[in-house]
Amino acid sequence: MHDFQYLNGSLHCESVSLEKIAEKEGTPFYCYSRHTLARHVKSYSDAFKDIKNLICFAVKANSNIGVLRELIKEGAGCDIVSGGELFRALKAGCDPRKIVYAGVGKTEEEIEYALKSEILMFNVESSQELFAIDKVAKRLDKKAAVALRVNPDVDPKTHPYISTGLKKNKFGISIDLALEEYRLAARMDNIEIVGVHQHIGSQITQISPFVDAVERLLPFVEKLREINIHIKYIDVGGGLGITYKDESPPLPAELAKEIVPLLKKTDCTIVFEPGRVIVGNAGILVSKVLYAKKNEGKTFYVVDAAMNDLVRPSLYQAHMSIQPISHASLERGKVEADVVGPICESGDFLAKDRVLPEFKQGEMMAVMGAGAYGFTMSSNYNSRRRVAEILVTGDTYKVVRARETWEDLVRGETMAD
Ligand SMILES: *Cc1c(COP(=O)(O)O)cnc(C)c1O
Repeated sequence: MHDFQYLNGSLHCESVSLEKIAEKEGTPFYCYSRHTLARHVKSYSDAFKDIKNLICFAVKANSNIGVLRELIKEGAGCDIVSGGELFRALKAGCDPRKIVYAGVGKTEEEIEYALKSEILMFNVESSQELFAIDKVAKRLDKKAAVALRVNPDVDPKTHPYISTGLKKNKFGISIDLALEEYRLAARMDNIEIVGVHQHIGSQITQISPFVDAVERLLPFVEKLREINIHIKYIDVGGGLGITYKDESPPLPAELAKEIVPLLKKTDCTIVFEPGRVIVGNAGILVSKVLYAKKNEGKTFYVVDAAMNDLVRPSLYQAHMSIQPISHASLERGKVEADVVGPICESGDFLAKDRVLPEFKQGEMMAVMGAGAYGFTMSSNYNSRRRVAEILVTGDTYKVVRARETWEDLVRGETMAD
């Protein structure tokens, strides 16, 4: 479910016409629906209301502070993977007691920042990281709350670049070795063990990998109890998928139905780290056709957005669905075409060999489901200015990130002479 629909033949976000936004703000731009964002947080927390839960939105999916603010107002905390994301979460008004911090390469500077901010816990990925956190905590005369990220070795059955819970992945500590790491942590003066963490991958469209992972984790929590380590938080990570094409991932309520009965057996607070499922279809990327080009029978729509704005198709061969902004394009019949950007790379495409409406030069299209891992993965490649981000609430909108200027492109650069 999302809040993008046609009214009078023209695509709207909630009650705002995307053509109107484009007229005032130019293209390309990302557009997010406040209503979808709020509904998604609520559907997640409703699904798990029978257990003590904390929903920490995975900030890397969409880190605009205007978006974060809305999720936080709905009660969400934040799952962060860098000092920069901590800065954003705090800026957006997140309660530090609702911030969990994962990532395999935390620096001492970042650890110090998180300790001083009094976040809920670090999700620790290696023993060297444990030593680093203990050392920084000692220097600051603090106790660092930690969970160890265990790797349950389950196959999330998703794209290999976004699977994280297999032995061959760089994430977490193998569940067979994790007990030893917990013993090590328990001996450290400035470490307080508060939880266990796992995150098995992203864009997962089946329930069974989540069930498998929880079924491996719970006996592990039991083993911890046997060695007198009593934890308060079980963080089961994120990863629930969304519909890009013809996938039918479980709804949060359907996932809850399978895993809540298992999780109810503990008295721990269950932490969830959904990212994509909260913001994915709350956002679109709107782009204009610069040129409709025909080469030997093949049609290319050269649009003003490119792989630097939305890299998922180039990076993961991801299918992103495309809709016209105006019904006028729909009425002309269909053509098979590639949608490509202006970047000098053959890998620069938003859609390949796709049956699409016939677009004329100057007409606009929306790349649907672009709210997650869209803007956050964008870059300035080819010295392209990063696009504007817009948040719609009912019949009004706000530019929550201004389109970059040429000056923004060279900020901080100097010439040696
Ligand atoms: C990326 C990530 C998430 C969010 O994954 P989604 O697939 O967007 O839900 C959650 N936790 C951790 C540790 C992550 O790295």
